Amino acid sequence: MKVLVVEDEKRILDFVRKGFEESGFSGDYCANGDDGYILAKTREYDVLILDIMLPGRDGLSILKNIREKGISTPVILLTARSELHERLDGLNSGADDYLTKPFFVEELIARVHSLMRRGDRQSSNLLEVGSLKLNRYTREVYVDGETTNLSTREFNLLEYFMRFPERVFSRTQLLEHVWDYNYDPNTNLIDVCVQRLRKKIDEGRESSYIESVRGVGYRFKKLD
Ligand code: CA
Repeated sequence: MKVLVVEDEKRILDFVRKGFEESGFSGDYCANGDDGYILAKTREYDVLILDIMLPGRDGLSILKNIREKGISTPVILLTARSELHERLDGLNSGADDYLTKPFFVEELIARVHSLMRRGDRQSSNLLEVGSLKLNRYTREVYVDGETTNLSTREFNLLEYFMRFPERVFSRTQLLEHVWDYNYDPNTNLIDVCVQRLRKKIDEGRESSYIESVRGVGYRFKKLD
């Protein structure tokens, strides 16, 4: 497995490099965001580990720029404790995980392994939860083996839910993921979309796949 680590604090870069080398990873290590971006877009890696505050391009810009280029390599962000806001931005920009400094290199390596396992499951175009099947390639959805027609947004919302079952999402997170234009934060678009989706996927069921989480948003449940 090959990693790219972009981190400008030499002490951190050194101990991370040592930890990865001892665990049998190969890797590239650099301290400047512009160099990191060039490596990330030209070479193949299994995971990218990006510090947020960097000389040159910052970690969030590297992340945004590679995602715009369609590079879907998993990304772990390294953040200072005070950078909560940046961390949330990062997760919304397509980061897969983050680690707050200071951290043990064992923890970072464990996160990398966990992302790799997740990656294996997700590499398939077919998502399956309970009696729902979703094909990301043909964009077909089956409920109890029967195809059902979803609008683009209903499909995108369901796909996002099925990728992360049991995880609670706020309305804002769902809006930012499923709608790609500037929306009114008070909009009820998500609620309307959830209602329509429920009608299509919950037919004949006692409880809904999509659970409302009071004061927060929604969670997609793994029903049998
Ligand atoms: Ca830094």
